[in-house]
Amino acid sequence: MSLTVVGSIAFDSVRTPFGERERMLGGSAVHFALAASFFTEVRVVGPVGDDFTDEHVAVLAERGVITDDIERVPGGETFFWRGHYEYDMNVAHTDETELNVFGGFEPKLSEESRSAEMLFLGNIQPQLQREVRASCDGPRFAALDSMNLWIENDREALIAAIGEVDCVVLNDAEVRMLTDQPNLARAARQLMEMGPRVVVAKQGEYGAALFTESGFFAIPGYPLEDVRDPTGAGDSFAGGFLGYLDGCDRADGAAVDESALRQAMAYGSALASFNVEDFGTDRVRRLTPDEIEERLQDFRRMTQFDVAPAEAK
Ligand code: AMP
Repeated sequence: MSLTVVGSIAFDSVRTPFGERERMLGGSAVHFALAASFFTEVRVVGPVGDDFTDEHVAVLAERGVITDDIERVPGGETFFWRGHYEYDMNVAHTDETELNVFGGFEPKLSEESRSAEMLFLGNIQPQLQREVRASCDGPRFAALDSMNLWIENDREALIAAIGEVDCVVLNDAEVRMLTDQPNLARAARQLMEMGPRVVVAKQGEYGAALFTESGFFAIPGYPLEDVRDPTGAGDSFAGGFLGYLDGCDRADGAAVDESALRQAMAYGSALASFNVEDFGTDRVRRLTPDEIEERLQDFRRMTQFDVAPAEAK
């Protein structure tokens, strides 16, 4: 049981219809690691600057995340993202991106990070994702996320990176964009032809779809009445999903099978739903394992359709 994530460690300034916050701890690797930390041992790889203090490290360390491979760049500043959301909170509008230390990032993985059983290549330049993948000693399961920036500007490297992982976790719009295919099922099939045996298409507040060789599964988004900040929902989904897959590893070393993948989808959706209840990492920081299990129980009820009328509540 061990999971390594490589991705952005950031300060995020975010405005939503429900409030505004400056320079919160964020980034794909941070949201992923906090979510995954409920299930397994997670190591974070990524660069930060002098503005990244012990208090920020403590947010991860408090959840048991191993921070040894966070690289401090002397004199540097941490990656910064500013964005806002309108009432359709499925769409993030980027207002400012300062790459800072992320610009010259060359991932350096310790022996422990390289030999993890599971690997998540968060949203970074595809060529870097390939280098990290190549430097790892054959994880049991490797997954990758990306974004429109790389689909538009670095498609070939991204397709090569996709060919080297077992699973892609992308937004539905990104799946369509990458394959130039408007139909999601066909697009997922095309992605699988590039190499991965698992395709997860995240669908924002509507949940996520799972495509494998043996079929299709879908999990809804949790029907929240108050969503305050959707930033990091996708990464929290991926963290819950891969964290569960790593943590549920059975003693017999069973492969990542269909049943584990379906459970992992439910955990992914649960972690994403908690993440959006408050700004930045605030909600996941105060989350408890009991709350996760309660939400899983809700998902079980919500997704069961062959129930007797008296039980359908
Ligand atoms: P998501 O889960 O898709 O909402 O991811 C949100 C996170 O992605 C934020 O915490 C940002 O710091 C981070 N982010 C935004 N733009 C980039 C980028 N170009 N590269 C890496 N990370 C980014």
